Amino acid sequence: MKMKHFLKLTLVACVLVFQSCGSGKTKEVVDVNFNVNLLDRSNDTYKVEVVPPTLKAENNIFQFASTAPGTYQVMDIGRYVSNFKAFDKDGNALTTNKVSTNQYELTSPEKIAKISYEIAETWDTPVTENKIYLMCGTSIEDDHTLINGQAVFGYFKGKQANPLKIKIDYPNEWSIGTALEKTADGIYTANDYDHVVDSPILIGNLTKASMDVQGTTVDIFTYSKKGLIKSEQVLESMKNMLLSASSFLGGLPVDRYTFLFHFEDVTNGAWEHSYSSEYVYKEDTWENLEKAILEVAAHEFFHVVTPLNIHSEIVDQFNFITPVPSNHLWLYEGTTEWASHMMLLRSGLKSFDDYLKTLQRKVLINTKYYNPNISLTELAQTSYTPEGHKQYGNIYMKGALVAGLLDIKLLELSNGERGLKDVVNEFAKKYGPSKPFEDATFFDEFTEATYPEIRTFFNDYVINSKTLPLKAYYNKIGIDFDEATATFSTIDNASEAQLALRKKWMQPID
Ligand SMILES: [Zn+2]
Repeated sequence: MKMKHFLKLTLVACVLVFQSCGSGKTKEVVDVNFNVNLLDRSNDTYKVEVVPPTLKAENNIFQFASTAPGTYQVMDIGRYVSNFKAFDKDGNALTTNKVSTNQYELTSPEKIAKISYEIAETWDTPVTENKIYLMCGTSIEDDHTLINGQAVFGYFKGKQANPLKIKIDYPNEWSIGTALEKTADGIYTANDYDHVVDSPILIGNLTKASMDVQGTTVDIFTYSKKGLIKSEQVLESMKNMLLSASSFLGGLPVDRYTFLFHFEDVTNGAWEHSYSSEYVYKEDTWENLEKAILEVAAHEFFHVVTPLNIHSEIVDQFNFITPVPSNHLWLYEGTTEWASHMMLLRSGLKSFDDYLKTLQRKVLINTKYYNPNISLTELAQTSYTPEGHKQYGNIYMKGALVAGLLDIKLLELSNGERGLKDVVNEFAKKYGPSKPFEDATFFDEFTEATYPEIRTFFNDYVINSKTLPLKAYYNKIGIDFDEATATFSTIDNASEAQLALRKKWMQPID
């Protein structure tokens, strides 16, 4: 977009937290204060000012994100930054040097009273490689803006864990949707840098709808360019999905959740967070979009189980400087994708035939559009490379199929008493949001918690890429798989044992 350049009239609101140290004469400022001026949307850039916490010589880098949790893509946000400047308390410019794509070196960090920079929106800024997914990026338009934290904010070296206070100036008629909490004077707060990355912000001409689902406060914010979709319409579908998730999980694992919907010209998908998720879809009537979005929302919501409650140390202490892959993408994305369709099936929001067609589609896409011989751990380890990035989407196909097989195997070994859902719920209780499992030993740990045969399963179908035993496994629950057409269908004369296991497979086990 283009508009005339307004004078910057905004003052940075400083809500500083002081910590006494020593004699009490030296006060250390902990908060990092950001101001984003959306009244000036010229050049499709965010005008950002930062009032730093107390800085020392070792905090001499201002870092922008190289990637973000759950995206498995190189972002190099530093590419979008311009006019990066540092000032002392008298307003004199201090020297800064761009030392790498995402890093600005601060020559006198102790003297810095303010930093300012512009950061371009990712949607409309051309790049030659590593185009950022729309739902993970930023967009500035006349009537709204989408902010994903890592694409607007940065952090001082050594201060990733410091709290943030964010003041956003925006037109009076706009409203704001985010899972971030707001103080009485309108300042948004984040516990640390990771928290703001975990909390997208949608601002503009939005509709809002709210409800309570079994004690969980659910807020829906919708930007719909032509006004075709209102939050009120989306509400009922999300309610049904959440009730289905609740019965699947034995209760909803969060006390609040925010859905941010962006309907405009393109469909790109959705991105999950701990207490919210963001959806970018081509605008249409809600009737036409409902089914697809319900499935995706189920997927994104199920991420509150994994990775939020079950993740390794690699996800827990997120490295924004260098992308580090975890081995367990099969769990974070494969299991999540399996669970989302399974919970819709078990709750009746998805028909049995529809579920079998979903399985067929995943088999066909796995073999026709991706290299089916890549193992799921290889897929995880290579997701940040150009070749691996092309294969990444298969985690939603092959990854989900493998999770489905694991579920059947677990049900078979436990006589229908303990499927993948149950094991996952047990791990969510054992770990939780702030207690990671060990990336290197989780296959063994999962095996110990279940059956020795599961180690062979992981070796064959997760760590290696043996041909998936779809026919043999689905036969256990009285479903035939026709290899030639990739069709799944119920076996007419299924045995008692097959029918009994299918019953356990179909229904939530409490
Ligand atoms: Zn996902």
